[in-house]
Amino acid sequence: MDKRIGSILLAVCLLLLASCGAKRETVAVEPDTAAQSSVPEADLTSLRQLSQEGALWQLDGTTLYTTVAAPQSRGKLLQTVDLNTGKRQALCSKPGCTHQDESCGAWLDCESEIAVLPMEDGRLVLVYGRYGPLEKQGAEPSAAVELRDTSGAVLCPATPLPHRPSGAFYTDGIAVYYLWEQWLEDGSVNASLIRIELDAAKGFGQASTAAFWQLPAMLSLTERCTEQGLLAIRWEHRMEGQTQVVQHRELCLVQWDGTVRTVAEAKDGQAFLIPDTGELAAFCFDSATGTMARLDLATGESEPFARLPEGLQLTEGSACVGDVLICNFIQDGEAKPFYLEKGGEPVEIRRQTSHNGYLRPAMVLDVLEDGRLIVDLGDLEYEESYTDQTGQWITSRTSETLLGICTPEQYREGAADCLTLETNHKF
Ligand SMILES: [Zn+2]
Repeated sequence: MDKRIGSILLAVCLLLLASCGAKRETVAVEPDTAAQSSVPEADLTSLRQLSQEGALWQLDGTTLYTTVAAPQSRGKLLQTVDLNTGKRQALCSKPGCTHQDESCGAWLDCESEIAVLPMEDGRLVLVYGRYGPLEKQGAEPSAAVELRDTSGAVLCPATPLPHRPSGAFYTDGIAVYYLWEQWLEDGSVNASLIRIELDAAKGFGQASTAAFWQLPAMLSLTERCTEQGLLAIRWEHRMEGQTQVVQHRELCLVQWDGTVRTVAEAKDGQAFLIPDTGELAAFCFDSATGTMARLDLATGESEPFARLPEGLQLTEGSACVGDVLICNFIQDGEAKPFYLEKGGEPVEIRRQTSHNGYLRPAMVLDVLEDGRLIVDLGDLEYEESYTDQTGQWITSRTSETLLGICTPEQYREGAADCLTLETNHKF
């Protein structure tokens, strides 16, 4: 998926979220295209998502895996951050190494964003691109998959992949999977679930199609999956002047067997919310009444969850931990995160963070297995100096996102007591 499609998707997602509460008018709904699929050979019922937000790769809530640009060469270095102490270190076991360039054990021949996928047995699956400079020269983009152990040692060297995966990755404990979507001219999507073989004896890095769907244009996949398949939202839109107004119609399950099942239908003015991180859950928000209901994904039945002020519009960013839902709304053009506890009074989170000089609420980026949250604490700005290719000494201002760990209760109180993770700048 290229950046342009990513942007379109993001725009669609924002529209999906920004439009709830709009009055419904009669619009032409596309005929319900039947989904088709190859029958998956793999057992996909145990699939779980490996990554939930951007580059925050963690498995069991004790270690966060990340990468930074190698200070004195091209490529990147693998790092770990201890989620209990906040301490950062290079994933390198070479004695005396200063972790600067290709000689470091944590070094990767990587020229793009990277996915660091921790498997339950401790192995790390790395998926990254080597396409930046190649693409500029007109060559085919390339991506690679590589396998390392917990010390950072290479188990299987970089092996080319047929696509540049982006978005979420999944695992069944044996292989790694990603979604590959191709948009057709009529707006419909050919979506494939691609399986990457991790067993060296069976051909490490070999890609195969585990499931395939032809999906109509008005069906947007979320990244969240159940035992049966991927959660999706069916929607429709109409134009109000220059503005596309999107109305949610159905919460669907795009099932591994190729069929699409409707879980719940939205009424006018209602929007579905599938939390990005934490527990797999579904909610339905009615902007006109401020009612948030939780949906049973098996039966589609809803039960009251919380009552919010009227006139709020759902926007991106949400997390679910047990009976707590943290989500973001827009009111009068202003973003407002709320902490909602089942049956309790909603609490508006007041903490602001600064990104490139713009203030925005502190957002929850991920939920750890023990229920703690990874929270975006804003940018740390600092000066960096380096020698450029002509030998000139350059000083420039740069920034790095500060991350904090806190409990949902601490977040509710403004995340003042959170554990701040060590930044690369201080490392
Ligand atoms: Zn090193």
